This record gives sequence, structure tokens and C-alpha cells, in this order.
Amino acid sequence: MKQPGKFFVGDQVRMKKPHPCGGTDWEILRVGMDFRLKCLTCGRLILIPRIKFEKGLKKVISSVFTDNSAEV
Ligand SMILES: [Zn+2]
Repeated sequence: MKQPGKFFVGDQVRMKKPHPCGGTDWEILRVGMDFRLKCLTCGRLILIPRIKFEKGLKKVISSVFTDNSAEV
């Protein structure tokens, strides 16, 4: 599997805790001390400290640095 701790703008991730809208999937818009995430369900943007992000991360759905984009 992929090694944790490396995230890039454009990656799509799934969090353990769902957003109030019910969505759990997010797209990373900015990385750094804080991560900016866009909820893929409702389109809302949030800012979350990196440590919180890493704790709440369930899995990476798609990474911009992965070649197998043919995931169904
Ligand atoms: Zn949402």
C-alpha cells in the first residue's frame, strides 16, 4: 500500500468522521501546516491542521502521483 504522510494537492481522501452533510470524501486543495479540503459531497471548504487531518484520515482514494487512474 501507499506510505502515509505524503499528500499532494489534488489527492482525494476519505476521513473517518463524516461531514455534517454526510460526505466522507474530500479533495486536497492546499497542503502545509494546515490542509484545505473540499467536501466532494457538498462542495464546502474547510481548513484543518495537518495533525488533525492525519489523525482523521481513513484512506487515500486517489493520488495525483498514482498511474492507475482506471479505478472503477
Ligand atoms: Zn460536506
